[in-house]
Amino acid sequence: MSQATLIDGKAIAAGLRSWIGEQIAQLTSKHGLKPGLAVVLVGEDPASQVYVRSKRKTAVKLGMESFEHTLPADVDQQTVLALVQQLNDDPKVHGILVQLPLPAHLDDKPVILAIDPLKDADGLHPENAGRLMAGETGMVSCTPLGCQLLLRRQIGDMTGKDAVVIGRSLLFGKPMAQLLLSENCTVTTAHSRTADLAGHCRRADILVAAVGRPEMVKADWVKPGAVVIDVGINRLPGDGDKDRLVGDVDFDAVSSVASAITPVPGGVGPMTIACLMFNALRAVRLQNGLEDVALPTSF
Ligand code: NAP
Repeated sequence: MSQATLIDGKAIAAGLRSWIGEQIAQLTSKHGLKPGLAVVLVGEDPASQVYVRSKRKTAVKLGMESFEHTLPADVDQQTVLALVQQLNDDPKVHGILVQLPLPAHLDDKPVILAIDPLKDADGLHPENAGRLMAGETGMVSCTPLGCQLLLRRQIGDMTGKDAVVIGRSLLFGKPMAQLLLSENCTVTTAHSRTADLAGHCRRADILVAAVGRPEMVKADWVKPGAVVIDVGINRLPGDGDKDRLVGDVDFDAVSSVASAITPVPGGVGPMTIACLMFNALRAVRLQNGLEDVALPTSF
């Protein structure tokens, strides 16, 4: 049985980061501008701490200013909102990302609504979600943007392809479906109430899984030759005290059916951070009246 091509998100993200680094160097030398990215972390969730550290390291490496704000887990809603307002008002901050999920006593909706849509580095504000749906310029959520780039590089023209996205979250499933529509795919969004999920998946030329259930997508759910993007990050107990990361797709089995597949880790994850940097680059340009930049496919 033939093996699927591995879609190397790590290498593609490295290429994208170096393109972004060049763009920032030009922006700084030509216009004296340095993108500023602020990340807000509430609490001490170890996985979120790892993401935030990695975002800061990448931002600094690419020549951005990184502002990290850590609030205690028991912080009240007003304090979080006040911090977002302070970042909205800070001219050195061009992009704001509030690391989700927030602790259970906080409501993330008013926090997202409080972010200035121009500084909304993760494209979660309803204004940006609406702009994406309307086909207007706006900030687009980083993870689906990264998946779109992986698919463009793997497939090229996606016109007429049947695409199935499993998951309908604001953060991923909904914007991913919109991006696939913009690529002229015929899109099905599946979720926990979908009847005959496996049957829907079997019709997909492009199958994107963002569920949060370890290895849920089995080989007999996948159309031979499909391109499979695994967004899921699930931590399972591994050897010793180290967790083992697995996706939402049964990688080994699906690899013998699909034509191409992303690994976990090393697939979608690195693209998310690279696309956050891309959004910060766009944000500083748009806030300073400079021409917008499109996500490059070759670099
Ligand atoms: P989420 O908000 O929990 O959404 C999960 C979605 O999966 C929901 O729409 C849910 O349906 C659906 N679902 C749950 N159980 C299902 C089932 N048995 N069959 C079909 N659909 C089911 O999660 P998310 O934020 O979208 O993230 C999804 C996964 O992607 C997680 O593992 C997360 O860690 C990962 N992720 C990775 C990155 C990255 O950078 N690689 C970024 C973001 C997220 P309902 O709407 O009906 O409940």
